[in-house]
Amino acid sequence: MEKNIPYKIYLEESEMPKQWYNMRADMKNKPAPLLNPGTLEPMKAEELQGVFCDELVKQELDDTTPYFDIPQEILEFYKMYRPSPLVRAYCLEKALDTPAHIYYKFEGNNTSGSHKLNSAIAQAYYAKQQGLKGVTTETGAGQWGTALSMACAYFGLDCKVYMVKCSYEQKPFRREVMRTYGANVTPSPSETTNVGRKILAEHPGTTGSLGCAISEAVEDATTHEGYRYVLGSVLSQVLLHQSVIGLETKAALDKYGIVPDLIIGCAGGGSNLGGLIAPFMGQKLRGEQDYRIIAVEPASCPSLTRGKYAYDFCDTGMVCPLAKMYTLGSGFIPSPNHAGGLRYHGMSSVLSQLYDDKLIEAVSVEQTAVFEAAEKFARTEGILPAPESSHAIKVAMDEAMKCKETGEAKNIVFGLTGTGYFDLVAYESFNNGTMTDYIPTDDDLAVGFAGLPKVDR
Ligand SMILES: *Cc1c(COP(=O)(O)O)cnc(C)c1O
Repeated sequence: MEKNIPYKIYLEESEMPKQWYNMRADMKNKPAPLLNPGTLEPMKAEELQGVFCDELVKQELDDTTPYFDIPQEILEFYKMYRPSPLVRAYCLEKALDTPAHIYYKFEGNNTSGSHKLNSAIAQAYYAKQQGLKGVTTETGAGQWGTALSMACAYFGLDCKVYMVKCSYEQKPFRREVMRTYGANVTPSPSETTNVGRKILAEHPGTTGSLGCAISEAVEDATTHEGYRYVLGSVLSQVLLHQSVIGLETKAALDKYGIVPDLIIGCAGGGSNLGGLIAPFMGQKLRGEQDYRIIAVEPASCPSLTRGKYAYDFCDTGMVCPLAKMYTLGSGFIPSPNHAGGLRYHGMSSVLSQLYDDKLIEAVSVEQTAVFEAAEKFARTEGILPAPESSHAIKVAMDEAMKCKETGEAKNIVFGLTGTGYFDLVAYESFNNGTMTDYIPTDDDLAVGFAGLPKVDR
């Protein structure tokens, strides 16, 4: 063991962040505004307030305030499972025989098993503050629904979850965890909403998609008094809440004088990556320090690496505002053989703008290679990683192997967003050798692009 860097760098309670950081405040090119799908004018706060909680609308629209105080009740909830450890992957480094120093920020140490709880508790708190009865949402792989169920149980809010049908069937245990925390879980598309019935009529037997579940959850919220819709990724408010990951990571690294060369995270809708990189990107935007930042996405759903930067619907039902983002088109339904929570057709508009400005890089990786990395990681570091997180592991390992060739002792930091206990059907197909690598053809993608709305902005 070189230097005196412990296996796990923890923060004292007094060193935990008390504010969230909003990267948008330091961006020269701000992310494009959300548009009203009818008028194509930027969404006003009043319009968004029918769908989202008032305080969250403020956060969503605020491109200028760099820091937001974390309310006391949220700080107290955070203390139940935070700070999360920043782990020096000594065992993995040894197994790879690399001179690189690898660190991972482990967000899987709570019952929901992922970073999603960081935003779920914030969103439930603001809903409660507003005196609402409950919230509706969608969940893909199930982590967001679980996190929101826990947060709603804590504040005594009703929680209705539309769960993408293939996950509902593949992950009955995830569903039962949500129900144990008091949530009402419906497989999507369902017969309970207009948009669900319409999608079922057009695509009988569909296994669903996140975009489709979003449409149902929004319809449910906007047609029931005292309910609002909440979203676990993509939105700028979610990246804001998730900045707690990056702020803790930076505080831990600073304690030991460690400066990362490379920061790597998996990217579905972009919330964990946006949160992990936040303070580092702040420095980069202000010209104080440079870092290489890599977003890792699945080859089966490659929104940054093969998508278009355009205004698009956030949901299949086309009821949500339009967002400018790297997207495969809201009609893109990813292959059901990919069970991870990285199946969303678009990407956070903040990350999309940073990517367009070449401030972050992106790579896509194939599913079996990701599970090979997951297996190696589980066998060396002990943690059974979520498939989503394993996308970041794969690229962190690749970069560490490049260091072996060049002899460079780079500091590599990656986000280990969660654990994989509910993803054992995917592990089973990997272990059985039946896992396949689905990569959409250009023709497959053209179908999604053809459905992009025509917007001249
Ligand atoms: C949801 C999820 C992701 C992907 O979502 P982002 O918003 O891109 O962070 C990654 N890892 C885990 C464990 C998740 O649950």
